[in-house]
Amino acid sequence: MFFSLLLDSICQYFSTSIMADIIQLLPDHVANQIAAGEVVQRPSSLVKELLENAIDAKATLIKLVIKDAGKTLVQVIDNGIGMSNTDARLSFERHATSKIRTADDLFNIHTKGFRGEALASIAAIAHVELKTKTEADEIGTHICIEGSEVISQEAVVVPIGTTISVKNLFYNIPARRNFLKSNPVETRHIIDEFHRVALAHPQIEFNMINNGSSVFNLASSNNRQRIVTIFGTRTNEKLVPVSEETDIVQVEGFVIKPQFAKKSRGEQFFFVNNRFIKSPYLHHAVLSAFEGLIKDGTHPGYFLFLEVDTKSIDINIHPTKTEIKFDDEHSIYAMLRATVKHSLGQFSIAPVLDFRKDSDLDTPYDYAKKDPIVPTIEIDRNFNPFKRDTSKSLAANVSWEAMYVGLKSENKQIDLEEIEFESEEVSGNLFESDGNNVDRTTFQLQNKYLISPIKSGMIVIHQNLAHQRILYEKLLKNITIKEAISQQLLFPLKLNFSKPDIVIIKSIQEQLEHTGFGFSDFKKDILEITGIPITVKESEIKKILEQLISDINTDLPDAGFSQNDLLAKSLAKSLAIKTGTKLNLEEQEHLIHQLFACKEPTISPNNNPVLMTLDVKDLDKKFN
Ligand code: ADP
Ligand code: MG
Repeated sequence: MFFSLLLDSICQYFSTSIMADIIQLLPDHVANQIAAGEVVQRPSSLVKELLENAIDAKATLIKLVIKDAGKTLVQVIDNGIGMSNTDARLSFERHATSKIRTADDLFNIHTKGFRGEALASIAAIAHVELKTKTEADEIGTHICIEGSEVISQEAVVVPIGTTISVKNLFYNIPARRNFLKSNPVETRHIIDEFHRVALAHPQIEFNMINNGSSVFNLASSNNRQRIVTIFGTRTNEKLVPVSEETDIVQVEGFVIKPQFAKKSRGEQFFFVNNRFIKSPYLHHAVLSAFEGLIKDGTHPGYFLFLEVDTKSIDINIHPTKTEIKFDDEHSIYAMLRATVKHSLGQFSIAPVLDFRKDSDLDTPYDYAKKDPIVPTIEIDRNFNPFKRDTSKSLAANVSWEAMYVGLKSENKQIDLEEIEFESEEVSGNLFESDGNNVDRTTFQLQNKYLISPIKSGMIVIHQNLAHQRILYEKLLKNITIKEAISQQLLFPLKLNFSKPDIVIIKSIQEQLEHTGFGFSDFKKDILEITGIPITVKESEIKKILEQLISDINTDLPDAGFSQNDLLAKSLAKSLAIKTGTKLNLEEQEHLIHQLFACKEPTISPNNNPVLMTLDVKDLDKKFN
C-alpha cells in the first residue's frame, strides 16, 4: 500500500515535469468487454459457453431455455456439481477457472473450458443471474450481475446444480445489439450450436425450450439414436457407419449415403474428443472420399467422431475453440479419407447411383400415387395489350417508362422533362409496331425469352426473372398488408421435415400465413398444412418450403436483410415460371403486362437484369 502511494507520488512528480506516461491498465469491466467481443458474437455463443460449462460440471440433464432468439433470454439449467458460495462469486472473475492450474495442463485438456473467460465476458455485456448449489452445501447461492458489477448476492434454496440466466444481451453495446440478425437467423445459429453440443454428448439428456414451447427432447442415447432424434427418423436409413482405429486416431460415426447429398451444405460435423470443430482440411479428406459418387454442386453429409491423444492437439488457437491444431494432420487426413472410402465401398453404394437422372424430376414420396396436375398460369382474358389500361397505377407507368427512356437514350442521367414528354407518347402505344401487325406482338425464343417489338426496336425479356419480379412485388405486398387468398386443402397435407427445419418454419409462421399458407400443427418432424397460396400447387409445397429453409440457412450477409424480403424472394424464385416452359401468346402478353405494372420491372429481386432493348439503329449499324 505504502509502496504504491509512493509510486503514485513519484509518477505525479515526473508527469508534471517531463512528458506524461500514457499507458494505463484498462479497468476490469472494459477488459472484460473487449474479451467478450471475441467470445460472444451472438446469442448462440452464450448457448455454446453455458452448455459446455454444464457438461464440464458433469451434468446428466441439461435444459436450454430461449426467448426472442436469445436476445432477451438464454438460460441453461443443469444438474451438475454446482458451485460453492465463494466459487460462485469467483467464477465471474476473468481467468478464474477450476479446470487448469498450470501451463502444462493446456496440453492435456479434458474439459470444454479452460480459459476462465466466458462468464466474465458474458457478465460484462448482459444481465446475468446465477443460482447454484453443491452437494456439500445445505443452501445455495444467488448472484445478480450487471455490466460486471455484482448487484446482489444472497442465499437461496435450490436443488444441486446450476442455473445461469443471461438476459438482454448487449444491452450496454447498442451497436452490437443492432448488428444481430433477424430472429429466425439467430434461432438457427442457436439450434446449430445446440445440435453440435448434443451430438457430441449423446449420453447426456438435453431439452430445449424456445419461446415457451419444447422443441427438442433428447433422451440419453447413443450416437446413432441422437442423430436420428435430431434430424428425423428418415435419417436412419441414410447413415453408413464408419469405424477405424489406428495408433494416432480413432474414428467412429457415420456418413450420409451419396444419393442423399444435398444441394445446400447440410449435416457436416467433425468432433474431436467430443468437441465440435471446423476443419476445411479434414472436410476435404471426406470430400475426396466421395469423389465420383456425388453430383457436382451437392454436398456430402457426415457425423464423424475422432478421438486423439489430448497431448497431440492444441485447442488454444482460436477464441471459440472451434479450430484446433493436430500434431500429425497429414496422417489423419489420409486415414480419414481411406476409412470413409472403405465404408462407402463396403455398403456398395456406388451401383445405386444413376447420374443421368435429374433429381428435379423426382416425384416426392408423398405424391407418387397422386394424379399429375397440369401446370397452369394465371391469365387475364380481358387483357388487350393495345388498350391503355386505366386501372393500372400511374406511378407504375411512370417508373417503367422512366427506365425505358433511360435505356433508350443510353444516358444514365435521366432528364425529368424528357421523361414526362416521352411517357405521354410511350404509354399509349409502346408495343405497337406499325398498326397492321397487331396479332403477333410477342414471340417466345427457346422457351426462355419473350421478344416484343417496341417503338425503337425490340425488347427482350427473361421470362423467369420477369415472373420472379412480378411475384416478388405481389408477395411483399401480401406480407406487408397481410392479405392473401389462400386455398383451403380438403385434407391437411402432412409433410416430413427435420425438427430444426420445423422450428424455422414455425418462426416465420405469421409471414407465411400472410402469403396464403395455413398450418394446423407443428409436430416433432411432421408439418401439417391446411391452406396454401392460391397460385401454388399442392405438389410443389415441399420443394418451396425446402428452398425457403435453405435460403434462410444460407443467411446471406446482405446489409438490407429483412425477413419479409427474404421470404418474398425465396417464394418468388420457387414459384416463378421456369426457363423451358412454353407460354402461349396470351400468357406471354399477360406476363409482359404484369411486369410493366411492377414498381421496378427492369431488375429481378436478386438484382439481375430482367430485360434489355435492342434499337433498330443498332441493328442498322450491323448491316452497314
Ligand atoms: P472456464 O469454463 O473456461 O473455466 P468459465 O468462465 O466458463 O470458464 O467458468 C468459470 C468457472 O465457473 C469454471 O471453471 C467452473 O469452475 C465454474 N462454472 C461455470 N459454470 C458452471 C456450472 N454450470 N456448474 C458448475 N460450475 C460452473
Ligand atoms: Mg466455460
